[in-house]
Amino acid sequence: MNIVIKFIYLLFHISILLIFNSFLKYSFADNINIYSYEKGNFIRLLLSNKKNFLSNSFILDDPPRLVVDINNIDSFSKNNFNNKLIKKIRASKTNDKARIVFDLKLPIKNFKKTIITGKDDNYTLLIDLNLLSDQGDFSNNYNKNIIVIDAGHGGPDPGAVRNNIKEKDLTLSAAKLLEKELLKKNFKVYLTRNSDRYIKLRNRVKYARNKSADLFISIHADSTLNKKTNGTSIYSLSEKASDKLSQALADRDNKSDLIAGLDLDDLDKGVSDILIDLSRRETKNSSINFAELFISYLGKQKFNLLRRPHRQAGFAVLKAPDVPSVLIEMGFMSNNSDLKKLTNPEFQKILMINVANIIEKYFLSIK
Ligand SMILES: [Zn+2]
Repeated sequence: MNIVIKFIYLLFHISILLIFNSFLKYSFADNINIYSYEKGNFIRLLLSNKKNFLSNSFILDDPPRLVVDINNIDSFSKNNFNNKLIKKIRASKTNDKARIVFDLKLPIKNFKKTIITGKDDNYTLLIDLNLLSDQGDFSNNYNKNIIVIDAGHGGPDPGAVRNNIKEKDLTLSAAKLLEKELLKKNFKVYLTRNSDRYIKLRNRVKYARNKSADLFISIHADSTLNKKTNGTSIYSLSEKASDKLSQALADRDNKSDLIAGLDLDDLDKGVSDILIDLSRRETKNSSINFAELFISYLGKQKFNLLRRPHRQAGFAVLKAPDVPSVLIEMGFMSNNSDLKKLTNPEFQKILMINVANIIEKYFLSIK
């Protein structure tokens, strides 16, 4: 991943008029729009049309390039060419077949193609390319990732309170401990708050998105009427809330800030829906993967976990469409044994050392 993790988006819009061949019996795919965005050494290309089109795509080495052949196309579009990983795009046509060649600046590590049929018959060929970095793959350093840590509550909102102990203070000290551990591992770390102040939930999410975070971790301490309930747990966004969110995003009029760096206003509705859906799904899966890693790791360290420790809910702070997000409940303030641990700086420190190790493991696993 890149130091500055951000999506570079562009809409190719050259009109290459291909000679209309009246002998063709096939229906034409008319204009194919090509969209592209980059993140680190990753390129995603979308070739989209209102109708189904026949295509074949493959990669070639020396020099590295992606070739896409499309049958019976009138024209395709590109504009504003400033993609960092694509050197050049070439197009040619023989008979009824158009060939588009993307010359790449770096060798290809892997290549994946998927066909997506969206709403209103919108047809999209999705191509993902992972390139090797120029200093070899190992320089692609995981610890350049950006983590936003969110200490729950703050200011006039104390969170749970017991025996004069306030959740907002426990979350802040834990957040600072986690920051320290992550800095030791050379991560880039931001805290939504580092003092006793209140921040609206949606602004915490906004902050993570503005920082182009690769991971958002909200820290809390739980409380419940049943004083026996105890143990650490983790939340990711529920399926239902995630679906609803996709829908809300897709329906919203002004989508320009939806997916970092992507100006979705310029896109066809069908294509922007696909992009939103993809981003939402990938974010959700990453959040789930993180939560599962968290549970298995702490389980191996014999940490006391809540029964069914990975839970899903519609928490507002988990709703960034493009930042994997989890909420950690360190333990229950309503449980005597947990409260004793939570107020013990040594316990907090050990827990946060483990969380930092899990974060490191997580980024290594998705490299
Ligand atoms: Zn809380």
